[in-house]
Amino acid sequence: MADEVAIIGAGLSGLALALALHQQSIKATIYESRPAPLNIGGAVMLSPNALKVLDALGVYQEVRSKGFNLKNSNCKKSTANYSRRTSSAAKRSNRIYRFELIDIILSRIKAEGIPVVFGCKYARVVEETDEHVIWESADGEQHTASWLVGADGIHSTVRKYLYPDLVPRFTHMAGITAAVPTAPVRHLGKPITKPLTIISEGKGAFVVAPQKVDGSEMLIVKQRRIDELDREGWDHFLADRESLIKFMQEDADSFGELALTSTQHIDPKKMNVWPFYVIPELDKWASSKRRVVILGDSAHAIPPSAGQGINQAFEDVYMFALLLAAAKGGNVKVEDALTFWQRYRQDRVNKVLELNKQIDLRRLPKDQLPGLAAEGVAQQKFDMSWLYAPDFKADVDNWVKSVSADVA
Ligand SMILES: Cc1cc2nc3c(=O)[nH]c(=O)nc-3n(C[C@H](O)[C@H](O)[C@H](O)COP(=O)(O)OP(=O)(O)OC[C@H]3O[C@@H](n4cnc5c(N)ncnc54)[C@H](O)[C@@H]3O)c2cc1C
Repeated sequence: MADEVAIIGAGLSGLALALALHQQSIKATIYESRPAPLNIGGAVMLSPNALKVLDALGVYQEVRSKGFNLKNSNCKKSTANYSRRTSSAAKRSNRIYRFELIDIILSRIKAEGIPVVFGCKYARVVEETDEHVIWESADGEQHTASWLVGADGIHSTVRKYLYPDLVPRFTHMAGITAAVPTAPVRHLGKPITKPLTIISEGKGAFVVAPQKVDGSEMLIVKQRRIDELDREGWDHFLADRESLIKFMQEDADSFGELALTSTQHIDPKKMNVWPFYVIPELDKWASSKRRVVILGDSAHAIPPSAGQGINQAFEDVYMFALLLAAAKGGNVKVEDALTFWQRYRQDRVNKVLELNKQIDLRRLPKDQLPGLAAEGVAQQKFDMSWLYAPDFKADVDNWVKSVSADVA
């Protein structure tokens, strides 16, 4: 039987999309190549813009009960010897283990009877017409759907249908992370209750973020420059825990008490490596016949400085479902809805990329700041209201109204 929407990938984008479409009475089936959703490991930071979407999808209360909640997402500029709040625009943020978030959304998907097919790997599009798309899975079986959505991550195979030659670019940076107990960690003699970034002149940044519902654990992150490795190479790199622990402990004194107290007893089993890949801005997120669409990391993998990867993906899926529903309802044309969607979303992604740049600038040693203008940037407070405040539903409704008025 043909699917209305075939979603490729049961990562957080694909799972949230299935729920968002279901809410709009659009039938979807998820196809995931693995036996279970990809759990990249560790926790993710959810900012108010994403929590708003999760609230609209009816899962926010569960997220709240499972993750570490912050009343205000603070962005502090600190050194080893002082700590100063530089911006605080968020009403609420949440740091939750990815597997917990996946479990919450997947349980809801199961409860709603939305089909998820595990162990089914998308291979290629066989045919696309104005009405449907036929695609093939790796086992040679052919499937038909009205829409095929690639939510298959940064190394997306669905994207190859739109961009056969595009490969993600490695930024030559990786984050080395460890989950450590919060209790012994101190900054300026005080326990840690909020995320904190320590900037050291010449040594870059050391980031900590409490996680687990009671904040009993924290993630510590240090970035390093590194040449690209293949999959086996990254496995070896991660397997050498002794070197990774040594790297975390190196120069700890220049980051002060926070780094000294958090890197003393690192459990090698709780370490991870996060290589930073990006893809360039894409001019299309949908095929010319609009039956194949990409979203989430597949459409706009974002470097991690502002921690917006999954947050932006949640915005994609929520708006996509609202707009597809409007198009199906005959209020707007699919092509117009997809054009509006991509433009709206890309504008926000671009602003996040600009925010990333400013955050990275602040993390540079002063003598590497490119001139006084950059010094000025580094002094500014971040205004996060544009990121946290939008009302996606109202923005879609207003656009639909304006287009319908034009047509009338
Ligand atoms: C260590 C780490 C920490 C992060 N922390 C944060 C954070 O704090 N905040 C934040 O916002 N972002 C964070 N990110 C980024 C965030 O994880 C990504 O933006 C997010 O996972 C993207 O979700 P996605 O569903 O689009 O892709 P993915 O999570 O990559 O999921 C893609 C899914 O598609 C499946 N798939 C792939 N190919 C196929 C195929 N051919 N057929 C079928 N299925 C397929 C995969 O198995 C996978 O399940 C972090 C990333 C990493 C690596």
